[in-house]
Amino acid sequence: MVGKDKLQTNRTCPNCKTNMESKITNWTFFCRNCGLWTSNLGSKENRLLREMDVSQKDRIKGLHSIRLENATITRRAFEKHDTLHGKTLCDVGSGYGWFNQVFEEGGAQVLGIEPEKIVAKQARVKTRIGYFPNALKRGERFDIISFNDVFEHMNHPSKVLEEVHKRLNKKGKLIVSVPSSGGLFYRLIPVFHKLGYREPWNRLWQCEFNSPHVLYFNSNNLKALIEKKGFRQIDKGRLKTFELRGLKNRINTGKGTGKIISCLLFAVLVLTYPLINYIFPSDSIFQIFEKV
Ligand SMILES: [Zn+2]
Repeated sequence: MVGKDKLQTNRTCPNCKTNMESKITNWTFFCRNCGLWTSNLGSKENRLLREMDVSQKDRIKGLHSIRLENATITRRAFEKHDTLHGKTLCDVGSGYGWFNQVFEEGGAQVLGIEPEKIVAKQARVKTRIGYFPNALKRGERFDIISFNDVFEHMNHPSKVLEEVHKRLNKKGKLIVSVPSSGGLFYRLIPVFHKLGYREPWNRLWQCEFNSPHVLYFNSNNLKALIEKKGFRQIDKGRLKTFELRGLKNRINTGKGTGKIISCLLFAVLVLTYPLINYIFPSDSIFQIFEKV
């Protein structure tokens, strides 16, 4: 999996600049001051060690319904503060364009930016292939910029936020959704890891996927990092961790998930569905900010 040499043993927290300590594994780091987690999975040498990509079919089936549902939850929260009619929206890392579809139905003029050509081509909404902000035209600005399950992959989140600030119109809104380290799974999985069952921790960080996680926020450190860059939080909430429809495909998406383990995991998730999605601390959160 991850090579042992060339791994950093300490680093500075991108949020509060405190020295981070290596925790759980030698490739994950924790900030005692603000609770932010980082990994070095975004570095080039580790990228070369990952061979696997996710099969397109499982990826689409596994994520479609949950992403649509979470986009609808986010849209309802947004509409409590502002109308979508006539607003321009740029969704960064837009994937198949599902988030944009939901916001377009609400009246927004949407644009997606997606680096994976094969994915971008399947989007039903206007999508440009490339990265933020390079894919944008000179001086191009929006009323809303969104990052859905994207921010946790960023190597330089502060720089990205500075660019978002420049690319938003006056009183523009920033929408961010991320997996949360305050969630139930993130709290439970280190216990499994200590018992020698390491696959869930690797999976949490997507370390064998093409695009692994390099940051793991909680509600407080996400807000702190973003507000430092000239934004004010106006709303926040929980998103669903999984939907029953598509769940089997999502479980099958990971490499090395044996059949018995997959079936067991499926059964446990079905039985605990209401607790995980409504009662326990959520593993997926969104926050909405206004440019100040
Ligand atoms: Zn910190």
